[in-house]
Amino acid sequence: MTNIIPREIKLIAIYGRVSTSNQENEGTIETQLVAVKDFAKKNNYTIVQEYLDNGWSGDSIVRPALDRLRMDAKKKIWDAILIYDPDRLARRYSYQELVMDELREAGTEVIFVTTAAPKNEEDKILYGVKGLFAQYERAKISERFRLGKLRKVSEGHLLVSTPLYGYNYIKKREGLLHGYYEINPEEAKIVKMIFGWVGEGGLTLRTIVRKLYELGLKPRVSKRGVWNTSTLSTMLRNKAYIGEARWGSSYAVVPENPINTDRYRKMKKSSRKIKPEEDWVASKIPVPSIIDAKLFAQVREQLKTNFALCQRNKKNEYLLAGKIRCICGRTRAGEGPQHGKHLYYRCTDRVLSAPLPRTCQERGVNARIADKLVWDKIAGLMSSPDLLQAQFDRWTNARRNKVVSSVGDTKVLEKEITKLKDEGTRYNKAYGAGAFTIEQLKEYTTPVKEQINSLESQIAKAKQQENQINITAMPSNDEVRSFAEESAKALTDLSFGLKRAIMINVIEKVVATQQRLEVNGYIPLISNYVGHQTSYRHRRPPERR
Ligand SMILES: [Zn+2]
Repeated sequence: MTNIIPREIKLIAIYGRVSTSNQENEGTIETQLVAVKDFAKKNNYTIVQEYLDNGWSGDSIVRPALDRLRMDAKKKIWDAILIYDPDRLARRYSYQELVMDELREAGTEVIFVTTAAPKNEEDKILYGVKGLFAQYERAKISERFRLGKLRKVSEGHLLVSTPLYGYNYIKKREGLLHGYYEINPEEAKIVKMIFGWVGEGGLTLRTIVRKLYELGLKPRVSKRGVWNTSTLSTMLRNKAYIGEARWGSSYAVVPENPINTDRYRKMKKSSRKIKPEEDWVASKIPVPSIIDAKLFAQVREQLKTNFALCQRNKKNEYLLAGKIRCICGRTRAGEGPQHGKHLYYRCTDRVLSAPLPRTCQERGVNARIADKLVWDKIAGLMSSPDLLQAQFDRWTNARRNKVVSSVGDTKVLEKEITKLKDEGTRYNKAYGAGAFTIEQLKEYTTPVKEQINSLESQIAKAKQQENQINITAMPSNDEVRSFAEESAKALTDLSFGLKRAIMINVIEKVVATQQRLEVNGYIPLISNYVGHQTSYRHRRPPERR
């Protein structure tokens, strides 16, 4: 694109992005803009709009300026968008493709300073990585969904499936631009009471859970019919109660400690994390307030105090904190010496069930012993090339078997296709002999064709998955050996903090009873044999002792 000869003046927008962490390598946003503007001038482009994401990582495509750009593309204010390099759009190829496809669909040309944008399929292959289609499709679907919502919010909609506790949602109806919140007097009374207990009475959330239970006040939806501290904590921080509702303040993540690990999940990312306030998509959407701002501020202070008090009590070091679980599915939490001199990981069922009686009778696990056993095992595994290799082999086989079982044996599918093709031929022959009309022929053959297509794509998918395994899952023997050597050197005499960091990264969970510790985890192996650094996570089947 650098040697294009301009025929007419082109109206363009420019997009720039730098992440805060990487300004040394990427340069500042100014240097990027100088290059872009220079390029625009040389090609006789007129810049009519600038979109800048300063301090945003390219790992996600959820960024304020990029979002605006994508929405504006449909308005046709400009003909083209000029960007320094594709990696400014997103670090991952599949995301770059996603955004570029979308912009092209909107009739916008995408121009890069550093490289020509891919125009045909061959270009794309030269330009990027193959085999990311499934991932790309998934991203595309959730992105469309998100952008649609974003548009609604910017028009003043409140997006709710269920209204916030304390409110009723009045649905959109004729003569009304969008739905709105109305105070639910019964629930609002309870909200006020809870805020008062914390802000003025200084009660802890756990005490409040008990009080609400004793008063017979149940939350709106709950299997157990009792409030829990996390719901209360979220409520007490929600500015909607002082009249400022928000949207886009959290994002979905895969839960770190899911309770139901073996059950099949519809939604992988079923947990939510809160973003920093300045990144919220929409804040201060006006709703009727239930709490005054002064009480809200008091509550915030009290929650901070409670938190500080609770941190002060956590002075013991627990290597497996947050990762260790009970066989009942609950987490186990470190508990300091109370009746004896030992530290224990105890099942949190007792605390979580309160004020109802506990349901799990499992006993505590000695924390010092569990920490040492698990650390020795992990360090031993990471420093032994033979053990590592055995784990990788097992992992690869397990995944291969999974592919076969998930799509069925491709041989069976191929046989089925042959049968269907024969069927199609028979219909065509019959038509040729004048047995029925062309419309009837279509009616007979269309479902057959569809079935063939579906089977073919199943086979393609299976093959693609198999290829991916071959590409990503096979570190060479040398790599395994050097990883083990590095580990052996690095893993001796570590501080608690470093050990803890390794545990957090390597261990997915430890399921503990008094008799047995079952460790599930991943060994991250850095590999550079594909020309760039990529970290692979290798799952290890449970280790038992
Ligand atoms: Zn338990």
